[in-house]
Amino acid sequence: MNLESKIRNIQDFPKPGIGFKDITTLLKDGEAFKEAVDRIVENLKDKDIDYVVGPEARGFLLGAPVAYALGVGFVPIRKPGKLPAEVVSFEYDLEYGTDKIEMHKDSIEEGKKVAIIDDLLATGGTVEAATKLIESLGGEIASIQFLIELEFLNGRDKLKVYDVESIIKY
Ligand code: AMP
Repeated sequence: MNLESKIRNIQDFPKPGIGFKDITTLLKDGEAFKEAVDRIVENLKDKDIDYVVGPEARGFLLGAPVAYALGVGFVPIRKPGKLPAEVVSFEYDLEYGTDKIEMHKDSIEEGKKVAIIDDLLATGGTVEAATKLIESLGGEIASIQFLIELEFLNGRDKLKVYDVESIIKY
């Protein structure tokens, strides 16, 4: 199936100049959603993954079904103030200002093999921050999987040392 045809492009959202890749049109198509999840699972099935980590919110939509299919646990990364137990945080730079993400301190044990899953690789800032958090807990990043990669933003440059794969490239 041509998964790219299931993604809707919304020009100038949320700001002028941005071409927003809307995955809701893929998610509502049962066959397309299944194929997207199955392809990520296929990329991960021989990598001996202990945990799937997904950043809020679209990383949950793909990460949770992938974790379920692999039979491994899912660990959320969230915006500040959402996780109830003790957290580790990482602040990172955006084009204007900064952003911060958090994980529960006890969510990954030393030496565990982790796959990060997110909907889209743009500048790579979010997932780079995720790698810092996971490594600060002693986790090993075994793979990073994206549904979509915006190659012209060169987000991969920030993730050079990792195994990075994406299903749909623009
Ligand atoms: P980044 O940290 O720049 O790689 O992007 C972080 C997140 O922002 C991605 O995982 C997406 O959820 C979202 N995002 C960035 N650019 C776009 C875009 N053009 N279309 C849809 N989502 C985007």
